[in-house]
Amino acid sequence: MDTKMLIGGAFEAGTETEEMILNPRTGETILKLPEASPDQIDRAVAAARAAFPGWARTTPGERSAKLLAIADAVDANAASLARLEALNCGKPIGCATNDEMPAIADCFRYFAAAVRNMHGPVAGEYLEGHTSMIRRDPIGVVASIAPWNYPLMMMAWKLAPALAGGNTVVIKPSEQTPLTALAFAKILIDILPEGVVNVVVGQGGSVGNTLVNHPGVDMISITGDVATGKKILMAASKGVKRTHLELGGKAPVIVYGDADIGRTIEGLKAFGYYNAGQDCTAACRVYAHADIYDKFVADLTAAAASIVYNDADDARNEIPPLISPRQRDRVASFVQRASEQKHIEITTGGSVEDGAGFYYRPTVIAGALPSDEIVQREVFGPVVSVTRFTDDDAVIDWANDSPYGLASSVWTRDIGKAMAASAALQYGCTWVNTHFMLVNEMPHGGLKQSGYGKDMSMYALEDYTAVRHVMIAH
Ligand code: NAD
Repeated sequence: MDTKMLIGGAFEAGTETEEMILNPRTGETILKLPEASPDQIDRAVAAARAAFPGWARTTPGERSAKLLAIADAVDANAASLARLEALNCGKPIGCATNDEMPAIADCFRYFAAAVRNMHGPVAGEYLEGHTSMIRRDPIGVVASIAPWNYPLMMMAWKLAPALAGGNTVVIKPSEQTPLTALAFAKILIDILPEGVVNVVVGQGGSVGNTLVNHPGVDMISITGDVATGKKILMAASKGVKRTHLELGGKAPVIVYGDADIGRTIEGLKAFGYYNAGQDCTAACRVYAHADIYDKFVADLTAAAASIVYNDADDARNEIPPLISPRQRDRVASFVQRASEQKHIEITTGGSVEDGAGFYYRPTVIAGALPSDEIVQREVFGPVVSVTRFTDDDAVIDWANDSPYGLASSVWTRDIGKAMAASAALQYGCTWVNTHFMLVNEMPHGGLKQSGYGKDMSMYALEDYTAVRHVMIAH
């Protein structure tokens, strides 16, 4: 497998390290991680800087055409990209093929359209004898840092608005899942001018840290852990660089007494466990009204226990293993600590699956209290906690009692109750009678320690461009 990095217009090998890139389904090593040297990072940033003036001067129509060509190339290469993503992340091939690849192509198509429709305030005379106008201009070189849970989709979310806005990019995929980024670079080189996108790989503490601290970088975009986001902010503060932070989440799910339980369970089976819960919007923190609590827990338990994974016939698998032994052990330790509390009952799962893959059994933790660690902290695994509530006002306070603010959902047949809860929840997104559904036209991003800045939608294009005022004296 070719693991050369894209630096300027050429592919270069990194230095081989002892860090293994693993197949999570088998535990086998795919290859050893190559790592970009400081000189290679320096040249990647220099290439992006050199490409910036030319790319920034292209018209929205020209950039749009390139993004459409990228989208077509994603479609044309979807099968091989999906296979690579499945290999590196352990994803069921059906999820990679049918869920992720079409969403990635659509992301590029959306921003191809959006950049041709970016409008602002009209020009006018706000001071006598002077005409003012607003411009939205690119920011410069964007350093993009991606996580391991949806490697190519996160790359698309970062590249498409940045490129549409006229910026050039140096992107670093996660050290655990760099394979699709490297394969995608081979596609991009035939479509984009030299240096517009550069791909470097390696560890966060070395390559990522060097990249975000590079004086040639104007903006840093990161999707990752809150702790990583804080380090990025410190690095950014030295150069007062613009930041775009998509950090963790711990989505509350409020199931009122009048909710359609069948629909809710069907939703939670999908949205609580998709990608083995390695999703910052996972429906992992349920508050169920006392009127329906017992039936809800029983039905969710049965639904979670029915999830198919680790089947020899991959077409039947609904969720992947966890990304690494470390992540699996982290999930297991959260559940272990929860199980030591007397009020908690683990109604299904709660253990590591035997075998070489990094599987953890889909788990339901019933009887959790609002202040429990399992309710408060991001587990990032196939684990859903259920907390009983009786007071419709108090449950909103419980839901908001979190350092995170990314996603939430409410389940009820009462539209007034749904609207009141949506207004009171402090989350970047609130779904009603669904969860997890994203569309490229609508923004995705958090409040509080989940970060700021939006992926997808016109708001992302705004984040990746700067507002400028031009005033002309008559
Ligand atoms: P992580 O923070 O460990 O790593 C994310 C990326 O940051 C990796 O590429 C890593 O190499 C890099 N990195 C780490 N330290 C760095 C440093 N000092 N300087 C520069 N780069 C550095 O996160 P992860 O484990 O890959 O991903 C899981 C986390 O991401 C979870 O917390 C999850 O909630 C979050 N996430 C958020 C969203 C969102 O949209 N909000 C989406 C996906 C994942």
